[in-house]
Amino acid sequence: VLCVSEDFDFFYFVQQWPGSYCDTKHSCCYPRTGKPVADFGIHGLWPQNKDGSYPQNCNPDNALDEDQINFPAGVEIKVVNLTDESAWTINVINTGLCHISIDRNGQELGKDNISDLTSSLQKDWPSLSCPSSTGFRFWSHEWEKHGTCAESEEIDQHGYFEAALKLKEKANLLQALRNAGIQPDDEFYDLGSIKEAIKDATGFTPGIECNIDPSKNSQIYQVFMCVDISGSEFIECPAAPKRRCASKVQFPKVLDDCMLSS
Ligand code: 5GP
Ligand code: 5GP
Ligand code: 5GP
Repeated sequence: VLCVSEDFDFFYFVQQWPGSYCDTKHSCCYPRTGKPVADFGIHGLWPQNKDGSYPQNCNPDNALDEDQINFPAGVEIKVVNLTDESAWTINVINTGLCHISIDRNGQELGKDNISDLTSSLQKDWPSLSCPSSTGFRFWSHEWEKHGTCAESEEIDQHGYFEAALKLKEKANLLQALRNAGIQPDDEFYDLGSIKEAIKDATGFTPGIECNIDPSKNSQIYQVFMCVDISGSEFIECPAAPKRRCASKVQFPKVLDDCMLSS
């Protein structure tokens, strides 16, 4: 069967605030690999249409393969800069841990680490659902539901996760908010000033989704940013995500112990 990915207009890049995932009706368990730092975490990179519709589960035959998000082991020889003889190098990518450049005489020019995506995903895309997991199931779910609808030569499994990690780095939400005096300290902040702070830092207005904590407070739960179909550049949202918040919303602390919901 020939599978052709559906078309879409842009992406929502969605990040979640762990404090708000954990203090609601969701039960919540920190990852097996350790408590994540108190920062926004990636939820997903979701293909989206301007009319509010979105494709999902576009290719059930393309389950996430662990080897694709770690650099495949093996040796890859890549010849670069062939035109300029003086800079002629061969990159030898060995077991996936490092990348060595040598010149035409076999002299080593340099080594650097190749980021293996798993450690970055554990840090920036932790799964907070119960029972504690490594995150792989959450990443698989997001790839299968959303990623398969964006498949292209660049956005293969590795490219999808790499794109999301780069976007998170580009939009440092916690820093953006801190710069505006907005901190995860259980205080209430103006929804407008939260959006403004993120706009000031990234150039683009986010969508904010709230959820309700056990004391019935509206709190910042997810931040939606819009991204072009290449998955690399933020754009002004062609269609704002339809999510509701009160005009003043709480920015909760991240608790040390996550498993308090029943
Ligand atoms: P919830 O019902 O928790 O808001 O959303 C459940 C799931 O549906 C999300 O995790 C996501 O996979 C998908 N989803 C919800 N809203 C949207 C949306 O506006 N766009 C896309 N592409 N997916 C969405
Ligand atoms: P959605 O379809 O809502 O994008 O994906 C949410 C799915 O991933 C649900 O099945 C949810 O239980 C699971 N999941 C695992 N870890 C997390 C997490 O940290 N946050 C959210 N929102 N969902 C998670
Ligand atoms: P689920 O329970 O399947 O994760 O979420 C079902 C729907 O309820 C989704 O639209 C999700 O966004 C919303 N939801 C999940 N937990 C909460 C919560 O604690 N408060 C609020 N207001 N909505 C929630």
